[in-house]
Amino acid sequence: MTTFRIFVRFRSSYPIVLMYYSKLFGKTNKMKPADADSANAQLLLQAGFINQLAAGIFSYMPLGLRVLKKIQDIVREEMEAIGGQEVYLPALQPKEPWVTTGRWDTIDVMFKLKGHGNKDYCLGLTHEDVITPLVKQYVNSYKDFPVFLYQIQDKFRNEARAKSGLLRGREFSMKDFYSFHLSEEDRADFYLKAADAYRKVFDRIGIQAIYTEASGGDFSKDSHEFQTPTESGEDVIYFCEGCDYAWNKEIFDGKNGDTCPKECGGKVEEMKSIEVGNIFPLGTKFTDANKLTMKDEKGESKQIVMGSYGIGPSRVMGAVVEVSHDDRGMIWPKSIAPYVVEIISLSSKDEAVVARINEVASALHDDLEKSGVEVLWDEREGLSPGEKFGDADLIGIPLRLVVSEKTLVEDSVEWKERTNKEFSLVKIDQIAKEVKSFVNKK
Ligand code: ATP
Ligand code: MG
Repeated sequence: MTTFRIFVRFRSSYPIVLMYYSKLFGKTNKMKPADADSANAQLLLQAGFINQLAAGIFSYMPLGLRVLKKIQDIVREEMEAIGGQEVYLPALQPKEPWVTTGRWDTIDVMFKLKGHGNKDYCLGLTHEDVITPLVKQYVNSYKDFPVFLYQIQDKFRNEARAKSGLLRGREFSMKDFYSFHLSEEDRADFYLKAADAYRKVFDRIGIQAIYTEASGGDFSKDSHEFQTPTESGEDVIYFCEGCDYAWNKEIFDGKNGDTCPKECGGKVEEMKSIEVGNIFPLGTKFTDANKLTMKDEKGESKQIVMGSYGIGPSRVMGAVVEVSHDDRGMIWPKSIAPYVVEIISLSSKDEAVVARINEVASALHDDLEKSGVEVLWDEREGLSPGEKFGDADLIGIPLRLVVSEKTLVEDSVEWKERTNKEFSLVKIDQIAKEVKSFVNKK
């Protein structure tokens, strides 16, 4: 019962460790955190997924890190699928590339610091300024284009108000993708592919993300955000159910209940939402500043055109909790749950029964292990069933299996899904098969 077994599942970038709850670093807390200002902060802190070091700065504990990595892996797979090559650029950056683009003194959320010799540095808050001169060093011909690079890395922003747990942090995870093209047409074509890849990402994660027209900030008029509707969101969007089109309040010229400007006959609805991703045409702002041009096949010099595409995996994790929880705890979609199955063994006064319960739980655990199913086993002794069930509901693993004296009388294990109220009994000799089909079901 006390040994750890480790094995590596194919296609996964990290090993799956079969876990006993008693050994898990980071336990649930009986008390709700006093100062949590949002559902995601309260539940993730209380369940021991994250720990707060300072406002907007969090440690990821084992359960939380598993969720974050799964989100990052889904994002990574979809970025690779549209031709992205992963890089990893420095988070610690000298002043010079930011002077080149004229942004050293214009960004209020930049963390600036001094190195030896009074040299100026900043912590990366986005990477256009650093990636553009990097690309310039490695492209020699028009044949090298388009270039698609991305990274998944922590970004640092001195946000005036860090708030809502993982939704607005001062250090947070970002996937940032940059594309470099010989023409605006090519850039615009790729934009649609990137938007599709984003739809796949949010679909796989299991979160609604509405494609929303946005202002594009400094760079351009036409950009899009992916917005997850929820009352706890900071953004406001207008969404038309008739044609599925949406606009950010920043650019929308109208109000709740207006007829859709697309003339589809629908009415627009105002809703609060969380920006979980965005895609931007960048034009030639950064390539102009870095004099990145290339001769095309006719020998004509072309200004390289860029696009950028962001997703915040840590914000996505917070957003999932905001939209997927109840008064007992979190409800993780299978694709990003820290574990897919939680086994709970209950104790009994009869030692022989305890031995039998542990034997059944252990055999199930081993069988699932062999099949690559991620299992957390709450084998703690001396806890009431209510305490174990409370923890399981808080942590929010999709499938809960209880082995107890009562279920053994029926030669069974109790099956309960986090999203359902119903319980059922499944025969011991059927359970592993049933679990595997649950895990593989979309
Ligand atoms: P916002 O408008 O919410 O401040 P942004 O438009 O500045 O975000 P980008 O700089 O384009 O965002 O960052 C790309 C993605 O990174 C965003 O879509 C979001 O998912 C995430 N993100 C941005 N800022 C934060 C933050 N402070 N904490 C967590 N995630 C963030
Ligand atoms: Mg924004």
